[in-house]
This record gives sequence, structure tokens and C-alpha cells, in this order.
Amino acid sequence: MRRYRIMIISLFIFLLLPQYLFAWNIHGEMTKIVLESLPWINRYKDITITQYSYNDNSLYNPNYKISYLEGKIGEKTDAKTILSIYLDEPDWGMDEGLSLNSAQTLTGGSQGWRHQYFLLFGGFIRLGEAPDRATHFYNMAVIAFKQKDYYWGFRFLARALHYLQDLTMPFHANPGPVLTLLKNIMDISGATNMVSNHHYALEDYQEYQIKKRNLLYIKALRNAEAMKVEDVWSTGFYLANKSKDYSEKLWDLQSKIYGEGINGKARYKINPEKVPSGDLKNEYDKIIIGCLMDFSAVTKGFLNYARALFRSSD
Ligand SMILES: [Zn+2]
Repeated sequence: MRRYRIMIISLFIFLLLPQYLFAWNIHGEMTKIVLESLPWINRYKDITITQYSYNDNSLYNPNYKISYLEGKIGEKTDAKTILSIYLDEPDWGMDEGLSLNSAQTLTGGSQGWRHQYFLLFGGFIRLGEAPDRATHFYNMAVIAFKQKDYYWGFRFLARALHYLQDLTMPFHANPGPVLTLLKNIMDISGATNMVSNHHYALEDYQEYQIKKRNLLYIKALRNAEAMKVEDVWSTGFYLANKSKDYSEKLWDLQSKIYGEGINGKARYKINPEKVPSGDLKNEYDKIIIGCLMDFSAVTKGFLNYARALFRSSD
């Protein structure tokens, strides 16, 4: 038991990720593709951009300023535009530099704490609060729609959905193979680089495939069936629990595809264009595409679920 405890504590010390891990690059752009197969969303247009006027007791980075990227206050926009722009908003700094939890350094700081949910040792140890943040912003959306503020209603839904989408990224639910992490326990900064190398490699590769419009990736986003959402928090937990199981396999595949440099102690940038075709790439694509289907499924399922909020206030 004591040995087990030491192992857990050591692992904790090790899990020092850098502050700026984002999880899935380009949430908004991917969501735009997903929304192509959710035509009812197009009905929500002529939404007036309103000034933020809500009480929110959560802590936020005081340097974070709310911006209105689609137009000026008083001008019109639509639900699809709001969602596609502000799906990325939680990554623009609002969660950075905060003291939220004494264990937050183990997830790379407050941003990592809010955007991840590590389920370690089969879920025996849990770190982070992504499902809670999704729930928080869903509740804010409930308030906004009640007062017929569609602009902030959809913008809060975009934020809530961001945290759920993050949980479909395997390294956000499990940072890597525990034994490998423990073996490198003596060199914290080197080991941190190793974890980041894998994390960024996956995101850079995913972003590249979407930007070059790889049809398999685009189809996965467009065609995945909506997931049944009945509760926001348990949907987040379900996603984390599912995606955590892909983390070790992805780590292994990435080590083979990108070479041992990715497991080195220095920052290692991959070139997604140079991944050779073959079995390894096929397997790699298959896992990522499966995760993107979850990304799409939760996006559609969550919006179907949230629809009750604005339908009733129509
Ligand atoms: Zn995020």
C-alpha cells in the first residue's frame, strides 16, 4: 500500500504540464463542418448582439477582456456564427493564471485544470474540472435564454460545448502511459516536454488533416450520429472515460510514426506532411477519426439537448 501511495505521489509530481495546452486545435472550424448536418440551427438568425451583463462567481483571468468579433453591440448575427466563433473562446485566456486547486500544477496550471479531466488508475484518481465548466456555462445559458438574450444564450452554449469537445481528446483524459511517466520521474522538465510533445503532435496532425480537407476527417465530423445527452456533467464524464483508453495507444503509435525524438527530453515539433502512408498511419487515422466522431456526436447531441432552452422561449 505504501509503495502504491509513493507511486501515486511521484506520478503527481511528474504531471507538470506546460500552461498552454489547448486540446483540439480549431474547435470553431471543426464545429462549422459539424453544423452543416444540423440544419435547424440556421433558423436562429437575426440575433441582436448584446453587452455582457451577468453575475458569474467563478474566477477568471482579470486581464481577459470580452470581445465581440462578429460585429458591434446592437448589430445582428446568427446562432451558427456565434457558435463557430466562440467555441474557441475558452482557449483565449479566461482560465489562465488562476489559483483554483492545490493540485492544478499536475494538469499544467489553471487552464489545464479547467479544460481537462484526468481519470488515472482506472478513474480512482481524478484531476481537473472540464465537466464542471461545461455544466457551469450550460447553467449560464439557461439564465440568458430565460431572459430572451439569445446572443449570450448561444455564446454560453458555445463555451459549455468547448469543454465537452475537449474531453474527446484522449490526452485530456489521460496524459500518457503511467509506467513510462514513472520511469522518467527524476527529470521533471524533460518528462514534461515528452508529454507536451505527444499532446502537440496529435493536435498539429489533426489540424493539418482538417485544413487540407482530408475527406475521411470531414466525413467523420459531418456524418457522425448525434449522441443522446440527458445531463451535461455525465456527458463530460462519459467522454473522458471513453477517450482515456486511446491515450496509450496513440502514444505508442506516435512514438513509431514520429520516431524516438518525440520521447526525448527536448521540445520536438512534428511535420504532419511527412507521415508516411501504411498500416501505422491507417491505425493512427482510425483512432483520431473515432475521436472526431465523438466530437461531432457530442456537438450535435448537446445542441439537440439545449434546444429545449430556446424553443420554449420562442
Ligand atoms: Zn480547451
